[in-house]
Amino acid sequence: MILMNDFKCEPPALREGMLAAAQRVLGSGWYVLGKEVEDFETAWAGVCGVSHTIGVGNGMDAIEIALRALQIGPGDEVITTPMTAFATVLAIYRAGAIPVLADIEAETALLSLDSVERCVTQRTKAVLLVHLYGQVRNIAAFQEFCEQHGIYLIEDCAQAHLAKSEGRAAGSFGVAGAYSFYPTKNLGAPGDAGILVTNDPDIAAKAGRLRNYGQSVRYHHPELGLNSRLDEIQAAMLTERLTWLAEFTSRRQTIAQAFRDGINNPSVRLLEAPESKAAHVYHLFVVNCAQREALQEHLRKEGVQTLIHYPLPLHHQESCLSIQRDPQGLPVSEQHAATCLSLPCHPQMSDADVQTVIDAVNRFQVA
Ligand SMILES: *Cc1c(COP(=O)(O)O)cnc(C)c1O
Repeated sequence: MILMNDFKCEPPALREGMLAAAQRVLGSGWYVLGKEVEDFETAWAGVCGVSHTIGVGNGMDAIEIALRALQIGPGDEVITTPMTAFATVLAIYRAGAIPVLADIEAETALLSLDSVERCVTQRTKAVLLVHLYGQVRNIAAFQEFCEQHGIYLIEDCAQAHLAKSEGRAAGSFGVAGAYSFYPTKNLGAPGDAGILVTNDPDIAAKAGRLRNYGQSVRYHHPELGLNSRLDEIQAAMLTERLTWLAEFTSRRQTIAQAFRDGINNPSVRLLEAPESKAAHVYHLFVVNCAQREALQEHLRKEGVQTLIHYPLPLHHQESCLSIQRDPQGLPVSEQHAATCLSLPCHPQMSDADVQTVIDAVNRFQVA
């Protein structure tokens, strides 16, 4: 079976590097928020080209902390997409703010600026832009839109490690960006981890307190924060795995290009090609098919695992049925959720695996 992720097939040298890093941490006798975290924070700031990074417990907390550091809370509206991980919207709720869902573009599954515009009210404080599937696109238009409306642009970069537009990295376009290092992400820890990135020293200072109970100096708590500290062991693992990220990302892009060149089944639609090679890091390679369930079953029989990102748009989640949204509805998101399918596209796939996936997709016939 060609899996969506295959950690057991990672290079032995990477495994050895991680074991050595674990030894280093255990030998240090220091386990939470220490030198390993600081070193990784510095390295990730370099990767993103930002001045501040704050390691936190996970990607969802990074979003919540970014919102709270910007004083976005009760009564404030944050516009985002219904086609995202549940965590994106849950983080807005956890900050006490009101999520408002705008529709997506069919060609990319990314937030539609026209729909965002229809969602703006007096209470809008931010657009939370999700770089879905690893794509950064149309950034200048979102920056300009937010500036014109006097609202913040915040980036959900959980799927967009190393993704770039005009030479700049995801997370450096808005006032703050949130990364997740959940195991399946392009840079994944063997556990939970996340980081907030920003060029704003005040946001950074506030986030640094918020992640640690709102503590300023030891045992002094000027504000009520959360416990979302990054472990030394996860930071050390991330530092090690970061040395492989460029190579792994380039492999994802090569696989994606092979899919683009090779998939020619008329009943399978590909998303639009990226603005540039660097603008899509292919966290997921997603296609649309009207007979999605049949395609998924066909691929399973041909030895290809697939997943659906995501089967329910956020406003169809039982806990979010009354969520605020574009007054014209969210038809494109609903259509995408009903037809999208993610093909395996991870760095451990061999050329033969890639060809197997292409051939299997091309052999699919509508009943
Ligand atoms: C994974 C993910 C998150 C949440 O990250 P966690 O580390 O799992 O909390 C948020 N947004 C998007 C788009 C994601 O893919």
